[in-house]
Amino acid sequence: MNDTQLRALREAAADGIACDGLHVERTEDGYTFATPEATHEGLDEKAFDALAEENPWLVSNWYYWADANGASRAYRRWIERADELGVRERYEELVDGLSREWGQLLVTAELGEDGERVYELRHVDDADMEPDALALHDDLLDAREITTLDEDGQYRPLKTAPTLRRGWRFVSLDGRDLTRTVEFFYPATVANWSREREGDLDVTHFRATAERQTGIYDVVDELDAEGVGNIARACCVDSQCLKRREWDEDDETELDAPRGDGAFPCREPCSLVIAAARQWAILENEDSRTYEFELTPSEKAQLEEIVDAVAEDRTDEIREADVGDGANRYRARYLRAKRTDEDGRFETVGSSAGDSQ
Ligand code: SF4
Repeated sequence: MNDTQLRALREAAADGIACDGLHVERTEDGYTFATPEATHEGLDEKAFDALAEENPWLVSNWYYWADANGASRAYRRWIERADELGVRERYEELVDGLSREWGQLLVTAELGEDGERVYELRHVDDADMEPDALALHDDLLDAREITTLDEDGQYRPLKTAPTLRRGWRFVSLDGRDLTRTVEFFYPATVANWSREREGDLDVTHFRATAERQTGIYDVVDELDAEGVGNIARACCVDSQCLKRREWDEDDETELDAPRGDGAFPCREPCSLVIAAARQWAILENEDSRTYEFELTPSEKAQLEEIVDAVAEDRTDEIREADVGDGANRYRARYLRAKRTDEDGRFETVGSSAGDSQ
């Protein structure tokens, strides 16, 4: 606690203070100074100052939070577990740092001078990396560039996909810059998380979003609830997106798909999902047909393995020599050589080449 904080405390006492166990007020009968352990009333200024000096963490903690407000305040208090830990315990833990995961971000709060908090951001998988092994960024806007490409240099159309690249850190952030940087990585997540905590998250369900679409996206509202559930299963599960889906088909119809366990909510279908929904809506216009193929049981199982390997994005992990894996490249080429015509189409029983669509 410093002199500025003590002066501010005296001034604020006129309106009364209540913060994390510290209660202070000034009335005609003098000051009141209450901590979780004891309440002192009718104090003169000297006695009041002495109590403040005895409880410096309570005063500096109040001072730090006095200027904070809104979603950023709630978020930073969540990071340091203000709802669970008393001020003294928090201060002890903040010396070494209190961390929370936010998607693939690891947010760490530490104690700065006179109760200030300073924050560090790095990739959650870099938690144990030596600081010097990570590229230090002091321009917050660098976060936007980091989010653009994945480790393989591929564009990331969905910022909340679990493909954030590693190897960087932002340090010595104040509260405002922490929230700004987090929102460069994951836009609107802090604001929506905060709204959800306040019971004020404005959810727009798929049907309402689909009915708003015009032009080439007009077709999206032709998808039925089963199709929408398939979209959610394809795009919105934890392996594909770190948001927790809060939207459904509509107010009354829950989708039969996992919502995910993410810390921050998804309040409406995103543009990537709407673009995918357009494609699926067009494809779903086709009627099913019955085909008859000649496949051995192993070949049928192999087709299923190929679909699964592509859907789970694990084709890069299949070794060339691992011909036991149905999605192995040589296995796929063998199947194609055996069962398809020169255009790569399966020949159905009784059809000739080129007649297999
Ligand atoms: S709609 Fe699905 S994929 Fe898009 S942000 Fe929300 S949860 Fe993620």
